[in-house]
Amino acid sequence: MATQEQSTHDCCSPTNTEIQAEPVAVESCSCCSPASSNVQSAQKSAQNLVTADVSSVVDSCCAPAADDVQAVEDTVAKTKPGICPTCSTKGKKVDGATVKSMLSVSLCQYRDVPYYFCREADCDTVYFTADGTQVFGTQDVRERVFQKEPNAGDVFACYCFRHTPDSIRAEIVETGVTTVVDEVNVGINAGQCACDWRNPQDSCCLGNVMKVVKRIESEQNSIKV
Ligand SMILES: [Zn+2]
Repeated sequence: MATQEQSTHDCCSPTNTEIQAEPVAVESCSCCSPASSNVQSAQKSAQNLVTADVSSVVDSCCAPAADDVQAVEDTVAKTKPGICPTCSTKGKKVDGATVKSMLSVSLCQYRDVPYYFCREADCDTVYFTADGTQVFGTQDVRERVFQKEPNAGDVFACYCFRHTPDSIRAEIVETGVTTVVDEVNVGINAGQCACDWRNPQDSCCLGNVMKVVKRIESEQNSIKV
């Protein structure tokens, strides 16, 4: 069972002590902080929601009113954990740090709950909460997402060392081979990669790069034939 402390944001939710001592601080985040006169009722609502064991969906300071609890519970009941609510495929669990690094919207919207990454090219959803009650689409993240643009030449396949399908193709066309996989491995061994912060999928870019190399090599071979 989550505690109330776990269910609030560091950035915009004061502790109970701060709420009582400094009511002004409560209003510092206009998107999600209740007016000081509403703090008591908000606290009660939060307690009710936690008691109702739906803490995973009411963790934010933007928590729904208690009246909405039934609707939220209904949504949770219909959604399997980790299944994209937009396209119904299984997502990949990602670290919260990756989500926070990648979001282009206010992090007041971020919740301290598990997030998943949707890899499906035809689905606009990039991240979603395990319970499916919150989604972030391609417009809500700072990077274009490799998996969402399978035919783009200028999207990063490797976010750490900035290789794109176009840059890999140019090397193969010019020299007949590519050293990109070796280059990425050298960077990884040198401790220079930061896939968990830079790659929206929160895992090594190498798989994306190898997929692109394979695709371009087979394109080039079919041209030669
Ligand atoms: Zn999806």
